[in-house]
Amino acid sequence: MLTFHIITLFPELIEQYCSTSIIGRGVNAQAIAIKTYNPRDFCLDKYRKVDDTPYGGGAGMVLKPEPIFAALDSIVRAEKSPVLLMTPQGIPFEQKIANTLAIESDITIICGHYEGFDERIRSLASLEISIGDYVLTGGELPALTIIDAVGRLVPGVIGKSISLANESFVDGLLEAPQYTKPAVFQNMEVPEILRSGNHQLTAKWRHKEALKRTYERRPDLLNKLDLSKEDLAFIESLKQPK
Ligand code: SAM
Repeated sequence: MLTFHIITLFPELIEQYCSTSIIGRGVNAQAIAIKTYNPRDFCLDKYRKVDDTPYGGGAGMVLKPEPIFAALDSIVRAEKSPVLLMTPQGIPFEQKIANTLAIESDITIICGHYEGFDERIRSLASLEISIGDYVLTGGELPALTIIDAVGRLVPGVIGKSISLANESFVDGLLEAPQYTKPAVFQNMEVPEILRSGNHQLTAKWRHKEALKRTYERRPDLLNKLDLSKEDLAFIESLKQPK
């Protein structure tokens, strides 16, 4: 079982999402667990003040270090388990990070809010993660992104693990087009091969379509792959004017 420990000023945002759909089912099946810790509960002052004005001036409020340090201290978790800090200044979150996190037993996530957090909070993190080059109001959506991407990889969360095998990014490629019934809809037809029942030809077709889609939409991903001669020749053929 993988337990996510989320340090957040807005636990209800995390709890609501994680009680719904596939992640909710994973929690019910005890494949994953979600625990939240509100820094406000760890304030020692009478007003339970979690933020303060920035030293040196400037707009907005900055999260104080003491409640976050105390919240992290209170968590019972595996020694050396990862502590992730949500920040637009972190490394970009990718599928391969999700894959390495999915084998952990505990993952702690610290969510910032307001103008950000006191710099000393960075010392708590084993990894700083960004979910993209834009600024959100808080770390809860980034934390949920990680819970979702990692949680669905944990055995017992998604019914058929086979459905994870062909997905985008798993083999470094975008996924091939998917179809369901009806076979013809508004004159748009499902490719014949997918209806043929020939698994070998279907797998070949999917691989080529995945290469084509990746070439058309994310050619940068192809540079990271060790492609076979046959795949390289196929990509070359896509470059020829039709
Ligand atoms: N002033 C900060 C800066 O420029 O780096 C941004 C603070 S942001 C308004 C508040 C919090 O939201 C951050 O501390 C972080 O926890 C979270 N956050 C915002 N955008 C994020 C992103 N792209 N990835 C990860 N976390 C993000």
